[in-house]
This record gives sequence, C-alpha cells and structure tokens, in this order.
Amino acid sequence: MTTASVDVDTARSDYAALVGRGLSLDITRGKPSPEQLDLSNALLSLPGDGSFKAEDGTDVRNYGGLNGLPELRRIFAAALQVPAGQLLAAGNSSLELMHDAVVQALLSKLPGAERRWADEPQVKFLAPVPGYDRHFALTERFGIELVPVAMTDEGPDMDVVETLVAEDPAVKGIWCVPKYSNPTGVTFSDDVVRRLATMRTAAPDFRIFWDNAYAVHHLTDDEPELADLLALATEAGHADRVFVFGSTSKITLAGAGVGFFGASEANLAWWTGNTGKRTIGPDKVNQLRHAHFLKDEAGVRAHMRKHAGIIGPKFAAVDRILSEELADLASWTKPTGGYFITLTVPRGTAKEVVRLAKEAGVALTPAGATHPHGNDPDDAVIRIAPTFPKLEEVEEAVRALAVCVRLAVAQRG
Ligand code: PMP
Repeated sequence: MTTASVDVDTARSDYAALVGRGLSLDITRGKPSPEQLDLSNALLSLPGDGSFKAEDGTDVRNYGGLNGLPELRRIFAAALQVPAGQLLAAGNSSLELMHDAVVQALLSKLPGAERRWADEPQVKFLAPVPGYDRHFALTERFGIELVPVAMTDEGPDMDVVETLVAEDPAVKGIWCVPKYSNPTGVTFSDDVVRRLATMRTAAPDFRIFWDNAYAVHHLTDDEPELADLLALATEAGHADRVFVFGSTSKITLAGAGVGFFGASEANLAWWTGNTGKRTIGPDKVNQLRHAHFLKDEAGVRAHMRKHAGIIGPKFAAVDRILSEELADLASWTKPTGGYFITLTVPRGTAKEVVRLAKEAGVALTPAGATHPHGNDPDDAVIRIAPTFPKLEEVEEAVRALAVCVRLAVAQRG
C-alpha cells in the first residue's frame, strides 16, 4: 500500500456531494440478510404436528437431556472437529456458552486448576488483534486483562503467544476464531494450531477458547483445512486445554439456532456439573427441527452453498469497489469465507473515517472495536460487514466509505 496524497478540495467537494445524498446505510454487524434467513424458513414448520420423538425415543417436549440430541451432535461433530460423544448441543447461542465458560471458571475450579479464577490475584487472556469485539467485551466485564497479540496471515503471532503463556501464570486463556477469523478472514495454519496444542503454559488451567463460528462458512470452492486442535492437544497430553464453541446462528436462524460446546471428558464433567444447576435441559424441539432440516453433514454443506450464492457477490463487490477507489491509500483482506473484511486505512485516520461516514448516513462498526478496550493504537482498522444489506446498498456504502477515507487522509495532510 502506498499512501498517495489526496487533493483536499476534490475530497471536500466529493464528501459534500455525498452528505447531500442523505444516505441511510448500515454495514456494522455480521448479520445474515433476510434472504439468507429465508433459506431456513422450513424450520418454522418443523418438526411438525405430532413429531416429537428423537431417534432414541426421547420426547423432546419434555425436560431433560442436558447434553442435547445425539442426532444433531453427530451432524456437527466433523465440522467442529469434536467426537460426537464430546460435543454438547445447547441453547440458541455460542456466545452465551463462552460467557458461561468464563463465569463457571471464575466460580468453580477447572480441571487442573489450583484455585477458582475468582480467587486468582489477576486473570489475563490473550486477545489476537484485530479480533471480535464481543469476545473482548465479555472478558473485560469480569475484570480480565486482555493482552493484545498481533494476528499474522496464519493466525496469532505464536512466538509472542508461546512466550507469554510460558512466562505468566496469570494468562489463563486465549480467544481464537480459527477459521475465517472475525474480522480478518484468516484461517489458522497447521503450524499455529500445532503450536497452540503443544505449547508449554505456566498456568495449569490454561484454556483455548476455540470459537469455530465460521467452520462451514465458505465463499469459494477453495476450502482451507483447519488442523484438529482437540486431537492434537489430546495427543500432546493437553486434552483439557481446549474449549470448542460453534453454532448454527449463521447456518440457519441467527436468533433461533443451536449452540455447541466440545471438550475433553474431564471438562465436560465440570461443565455439566455446573450447567446442570442452571438448566434442566436445552430446547430439544429446536434441536430436533434442526436435525430434520439439515439431515446430515452433506445437508449442511449444500445449505451453506446457498448462503455463499447470496453473500459471495457482496464480498466481491466490496473488493471490486475498494480496488477501484482506494488501491493507492488502503489495504484490505480478501476472505474466502466468514462474514467480514478488514480495511486498513492510513495510521491515525480510522476514527475520523467512521465519524465522517456517520455524518454522511453510513454506519460502520466503531473504529477500535476490533481491539481490547476499543483501543486500536494505530487507529487504522475498520471492519466491514457486507452480509446484511442488499447488494446495491453494500455497493453504495463502500463507495461512500471510500469518499470518507479520501477526505480523512486529505485532512490529515
Ligand atoms: N463468535 C464469532 C466469532 C462471531 O462472529 C459471532 C457473531 N458475530 C458469534 C460468535 C456469535 O455467535 P452466536 O450467535 O452463536 O452466539
């Protein structure tokens, strides 16, 4: 990326024209579009009148079944790289499972722990940046210190991760979105996954929060293989360090999907011992309708292709317009899956770009949201979420964004 100079007068008049258009567009959050949600409308009439038995004869209308329905756990076992017997199907959200995992670890000693996290003088998590703002907010809420670690093209910078976890017993966890990461689109390389699985940690109760939210969310036929963290860690004698999370939020219905939690037998005993106090069992009616609708792994795959058909052109449009408008000023990721594009603008301009865009009626995720405590030290990263708006709106929003980048750079001089 070169940072070419921008003519201030042109940038100002382009921006004035933009404001004059009175746009109202929003590319802030990674939500599926209504058209994507329509792909799963059949769920609304499943499992159907009189159909309330799971494959093992369980009446899904009743209480119980803390681990979730085996038929649904089987469908997602391979995609989430957890044996079906170690994969639990839960409520409608994986974020709540991550939240519960942190809270339970604060309140109840984890397998391998010397004490509860609440009794530790300090708890730290490593936060690969740019990363997912809701991960950061979740841990910040409980006073957990987030230590930023740079993301590379292959995942978190493992030289830094290995040093920090080996030297500091207060480092109890790391946030990871290993496939089509939010927001960079990076898939962790085999080497990164292997190093995470095998590294030496000072904390005996260190956990990798492996949020595989985009496990099957391919945009192209070129599907990267993710190494199997749980298997590698188990092989290395560290089975308990892995917490796997996933959900169907961006497969079926974002507000009415199914969340999954996968881990070692010891972790699962700890988990169900605690969650059994919190609930008598998950919504198995929803789990059964998901099993009927998706059927098997091939069913999930076929369904995801339909999603790619809808959102692929939106990602392509962002790339095309950024190439036309900002090739001389900015760089951006070209993800082959997931929900986000990361735009990197010249240092010190991201906040101003977001402010200018807001004034012009284009809502962007706040600059800094991709970093702990909302603080991007370079003030350079902007997350673009192109899935929800219509294609024409995405195009319009990105053209508007380019006008704002040019003005922010021109003003900076
Ligand atoms: N993890 C990541 C990385 C996400 O991007 C999102 C949604 N934006 C979630 C989790 C939320 O998942 P769920 O709907 O299952 O709570």
